Amino acid sequence: MADEAIRVKVVCRVRPLNEKERASGDASIVNFPSPSCVALGQRMYTYDHVFQPVSTQVEVYTTSARPLVKDVLSGYNATIFAYGQTASGKTHTMEGVLESSEFRGIIPRIVGDIFEHIYAMDANLEIHIKISYFEIYMEKIRDLLDMTKSNLPIGESKTKVPYVKGITERFATSPEEVLAVVEEGKSNRKVAVTNMNAHSSRSHAVFLIAIKQENKETRQTLTGKLYLVDLAGSEKVEKTNAQGLTLEEAKTINKSLLALSNVIAALSEGNKPFIPYRDSKLTRVLQESLGGNARTTLIICCSPSPYNEAETKTTLMFGDRAK
Ligand code: ADP
Ligand code: MG
Repeated sequence: MADEAIRVKVVCRVRPLNEKERASGDASIVNFPSPSCVALGQRMYTYDHVFQPVSTQVEVYTTSARPLVKDVLSGYNATIFAYGQTASGKTHTMEGVLESSEFRGIIPRIVGDIFEHIYAMDANLEIHIKISYFEIYMEKIRDLLDMTKSNLPIGESKTKVPYVKGITERFATSPEEVLAVVEEGKSNRKVAVTNMNAHSSRSHAVFLIAIKQENKETRQTLTGKLYLVDLAGSEKVEKTNAQGLTLEEAKTINKSLLALSNVIAALSEGNKPFIPYRDSKLTRVLQESLGGNARTTLIICCSPSPYNEAETKTTLMFGDRAK
């Protein structure tokens, strides 16, 4: 396995034009020649799947996230990333409207499915579900479940697996409990932030759900971890500068997204003796869940409007490089 290319699944989601864009007469700049293809200008981009603006939350979930439930419950690690410029639909895709059965995103849906599987499992198994929720802002790890922990270090286990040292871990026994933790983290995230939109576009939000199954007789265990990552906005400096982004922030975000791109590209090319996990906190923290036997899904989120063309193109290329 070590020498083989790790297939990263890449799907693309194009959001609908919003009201303001439609009111100003914008028309979509992308076309969809086939279910796995999106065209922008003269170029066609092919991914594992392309979700058009009419695609629903349940469609996106079923195709790109649900297959991971079985993997995680079989002891594999998995990561789902949402990548794209600010307002391209990352949070809508990952979280959506938590309390709406129609508009809830991947996190509430996958949590629901994980518990359904668990409830149907062998009674001989004891299941422990642990949740962590943190953000990475300016290369600092901030615990979203304990605001006193604003700059957590990365440690290494005996087997050299990096982890966030001292991160809060919450046990949960039902989907409702998990979602309450999501809400708690979300409201903590807003604390000490003057503009939540700006902040969320500059930081990566990482939600981790770890599932341990223990055989009551043999005490053998099996653990799978699932990381759900809402990445910082991928837009270029010039554009965000107008919204008050400091140069230092922009450089840091670009650096960590580039590090992610490099790691994913190295994994999918295969035969690389060296994967540059150490180039950012994000890739380092996710190391055990990227590459090796881990399953990785990248959801690239795009805007269809003309004024976002340059960013949409960059996003499509990011997805291309990850394949
Ligand atoms: P991001 O997290 O990438 O900054 P959001 O997910 O917050 O972007 O999306 C920006 C806005 O567009 C939100 O109001 C969101 O509800 C809306 N939106 C995004 N994607 C879709 C979609 N596929 N269908 C309907 N509305 C969407
Ligand atoms: Mg967002």
